[in-house]
Formats: sequence, C-alpha cells, structure tokens
Amino acid sequence: FPVENIRNFSIIAHVDHGKSTLADRLLELTGTIDKTKNNKQVLDKLQVERERGITVKAQTASLFYDFEGKQYLLNLIDTPGHVDFNYEVSRSLSACQGVLLVVDANEGIQAQTVANFFLAFEAQLSIIPVINKIDLKSADPERVEKQIEKVFDIPRNECVKISAKLGTNVESILQAVIERIPPPKVHRKNPLRALVFDSTFDRYRGVIANIALFDGVVSKGDKIVSAHNQKTYEVNEVGVLNPNEQSTNKLYAGQVGYLIAGMKNITEAQVGDTLYLHRQPVEPLPGFKSAKPMVFAGMYPVDQSEYNNLKSAVEKLTLNDSSVTVHRDSSLALGAGWRLGFLGLLHMEVFNQRLEQEYNASVIMTTPTVPYKAVLSSAKLIKEYREKEITIINPAQFPDKSKVTEYLEPVVLGTIITPDEYTREIMMLCQARRAVQKNMVFIDQNRVMLKYLFPLNEIVVDFYDSLKSLSSGYASFDYEDAGYQAAELVKMDILLNGNIVEELVTIVHKDKAHSVGKAICERLKDSLPRQLFEIAVQAAIGSKIIARETMVVILPEK
Ligand code: GDP
Ligand code: MG
Repeated sequence: FPVENIRNFSIIAHVDHGKSTLADRLLELTGTIDKTKNNKQVLDKLQVERERGITVKAQTASLFYDFEGKQYLLNLIDTPGHVDFNYEVSRSLSACQGVLLVVDANEGIQAQTVANFFLAFEAQLSIIPVINKIDLKSADPERVEKQIEKVFDIPRNECVKISAKLGTNVESILQAVIERIPPPKVHRKNPLRALVFDSTFDRYRGVIANIALFDGVVSKGDKIVSAHNQKTYEVNEVGVLNPNEQSTNKLYAGQVGYLIAGMKNITEAQVGDTLYLHRQPVEPLPGFKSAKPMVFAGMYPVDQSEYNNLKSAVEKLTLNDSSVTVHRDSSLALGAGWRLGFLGLLHMEVFNQRLEQEYNASVIMTTPTVPYKAVLSSAKLIKEYREKEITIINPAQFPDKSKVTEYLEPVVLGTIITPDEYTREIMMLCQARRAVQKNMVFIDQNRVMLKYLFPLNEIVVDFYDSLKSLSSGYASFDYEDAGYQAAELVKMDILLNGNIVEELVTIVHKDKAHSVGKAICERLKDSLPRQLFEIAVQAAIGSKIIARETMVVILPEK
C-alpha cells in the first residue's frame, strides 16, 4: 500500500458528543462492518463500556475507502472520552497525523473538548472540527462554529456538519480526512522502527501489542528487540485490526496494526516502547509519560476465604490495565487486602465493576485518598526511609509533624465551562474547595470558561456531582495534573468508644478538619445500624477531639 494513500487519525470529543456513533458510521461506510446489523459502539468491546456508554480502552480499526480513483487505507483509532483516561488519548494521538474534533451541535464546546483540542494541538496534528447531532431540534451549529473560531482559532468554514446518528454528511468526513490530514512521514527502506501505542493481554495468545510503524517492515518470523527491556522476541503473528485481528504476515511503515511475539507479561509491551529488528538498533521514538495514579483506596474481600480468588481476579484485570498500581496491605478489621492506585474515581469504579461482572468478586473499598508527600526533616529519617520526600498513599502511615519540614498535596488545573447564569455559584463552590482562580473568559455571549487550580483531594470525592447539580447538569469539568503545593495537613483519627479505627483515618487540610470530622461522625452514626448501647463516635487530631456524635449499639450475640 503506497504511503501517500495512508491516513492515521483519531476521533476526540467530550463524552457523549458522538465519537462511538461516528466510528460505527465510518466502519459501515467503508464496508468494515455490515450495515444491516444494528451496530452500536462496535469499538466499545467491554461490557462496562457498553453499559456506561463510555469508552475505557482505545480501539483501532483499519478502513479501506475509494476516492477519486484511488484506494485509501484509513486507520481509525478510537479514544476514551473521560478525564480519567486522558493518558489514553495522548497515547492514541502519537500514532496519528490528524484528528476529528467532534462537538455536539446543541451542547457546544465543553471542558473535555478544550482538553482534547490542546492534546492534539500540542502534538501538531491536523484538526478537523466536526459539528455532530445537527438533526437535533435544539441544534445550533452556527453558534458552535463561532465558539470553535473563538476558542481554537479555527476558521468557521472548516467545520464539517453531520449527524452521526442518521449518517447525514458522514461521507464528507472521509474526504476531509484524505484531503486535510497528511500521510505519515515514514521510510520503508530504513530498518524497522515501530511504536507500541497500546497493549492487551489475551489468555490464550499472550500479549497483543498495538503498533504503528514509522520505518521499515515487520514480518512473521522476524526477531525483534524491545528498546525498553532489550529482550529479543520472535514475531509469531502480525496483522491489521478490522476491528478484529486479521493476520497479514507483514506490516509496512505507515501502517497501524497488531503484533504477537511471545511476550508473557503486559509490562513487556510497555506502551511508548520502540521495537526494532535484532542486530539493527535504531534511535527509539519519544515515549510517553506513564500514567500516574491519582486516587488510592484499600480493597478487601468481603469474606477472607475469598482472598485467593480475589487475588487471581486482581492479577488478571491488572494484566490488561497496567495503569492500576497494586500493593499488598492488611488491616485488623478487614484482614488481608490491597492498596490500589487509580487514575481517577471513574477508573476506580470501572475497575470495581469489572471485578464484579467479569470475576464475580465482592469487595469492600475504603474511602479514596490522594498521594500526599512529606519532606522529612532530619538526615536520620532520610536514611531510615531511604528518601528525602516520601509519598503517602495510606493515611494510617502519615508521618508525624515532628518528622517533617513540610507536607505537600497534589494539585490540578481544572477547566469549567458553564452557562453564565451559574458562574457565581460555581465560583463559590470552587472557593469552598480551596481553589484559586487562574482565568475566566466568555466563549460566546452567555457561556463562560473558568480555570482554577484545585487541590486534588478537594475534587476526588463529590466535586463533579456538586458542580453538575448546582448547574442543572450544564457545567462540564476536566483537569490536568499541575504538580504539588505546600499544604498544612493533619491526620484525623476516628474513634469508636475511645478506640482508633485504622481504616477510618483520613488526612485533611487544617482549615477543613472541623467540617470534615463532623461530616464523618454524622455519616458513621447514620450508616452503622441502630443498636442498644450508647457509644461515642469521635474525630480527633492528636489528642484533641474535634467532633463527637453518640449512637446506640447492640453488642453482637455470642
Ligand atoms: P461518545 O461518548 O462520544 O462515544 O458518544 P456516543 O457515540 O456513545 O453517543 C452518545 C449519545 O448521543 C448516544 O445516545 C447516541 O445515540 C447519541 N448520538 C450520537 N450521534 C448523534 C447524532 O448525530 N444525533 C443524535 N440525535 N444523537 C446522536
Ligand atoms: Mg464512546
């Protein structure tokens, strides 16, 4: 296939703006899938994706399309739409030269539209704005065109207006892809240079790496080397994704496809790794920032006898999701378990749901926390911990103030887009969450884009719900990592009848200790079953009790 007839592109959009539906239409138009079937989100393979209507793992499909007497190979890489999975978006983009930026004709530009636009812009990709859902009664494509011009500086005549649902004007998207996105810049005569942009684990076939070939050719039987781990593998199978794997025995530079090479562990096909031929080393391609867990929670089997089953379920799931970190943990009350790190709350929920659905496991999760840091104060402590700055993923291990010169908390730069009438309430909400305003602009007559620097722990639990409810669902939110800032943090113990319960220890900002302590005590009082004896529920910082509730308890029989 001549390189000049290849296009590699992605669809990016705010959640629900129609990526998956558009992907289905493109697959049908190119005859990749059968039009007569009722195709819904064909690329969303996981049960949880279909149920929640979100895409969790990016999928790839190769489409063939005839245009002006030539046949083109269009490689479509679907991306997830939720902020927790932004790292997947950047990953998919590295294999592309262009994107379709889909915007809902009724909702207009939303927070994730902005975040996704900048990911594509920074990667210097061609951007084709697509205004979708023009069939809706409430659609206002002209308004959205103006927003796109104002916020992204893209001339409004470049927008392609479609209805992915009805198929209206979808064909012109394929033409825009061919005309406006350049073919990949590759050299087939050079030795093999392939980028691993995703990988999955298959129980029977081992690791399946999704690759984009920048240079050279790879064939079945070749010996290849991972630049990352320097191990040599033999290629057992190589092919394209249609969207299911279809073996072709060879892939050429410019193509996107999959490769199986006897890798047993998903960490062997590290996303961002470069593969080259044995004895023909090349300069590795720039890799990716690896995904950093932002939310940690303890996980325990409901019944300890289920520990081994749960262990193997967790192992299997993490084989396919290397962004989950796993540490063993144990607790007096809950027994043996793990402390898991996730990219965000949705990621955590999705993981939980997959454990339940795919492995029939029932688990207890503790309240999520964020990775705080502490800068140790003495050389002796630094030696003891073997680090100057320690990361605390378990509140029970929060070091005492006497050991620390400074505590640090993770912060994120949040983008909120909202109808103007809610701006005041949203600003109050942000202030209550200790956020600092960075910017505010009108993206049209009555829509505002706000930028705030948030402490991450202030948004992990219920910020999104609060934002949605005070804006009647109209405000959207996305965030990106913004490092760490110094914070006055304290460890808060929760006591039941005078005894500290380790699983309930939390870390809070000193100014919020009272309100958080009170909320936890009230919640506990209401959630524990009403019983016969009185016991005290207390929140304490060191020896100082800061909140107290009383409840009535029955001692268990026996
Ligand atoms: P994604 O989250 O971006 O992948 O969005 P989906 O493709 O899952 O679409 C979200 C919802 O919008 C679904 O209920 C679709 O049926 C609907 N939808 C997608 N495209 C259109 C369209 O062109 N018109 C209308 N009316 N609805 C659409
Ligand atoms: Mg989708």
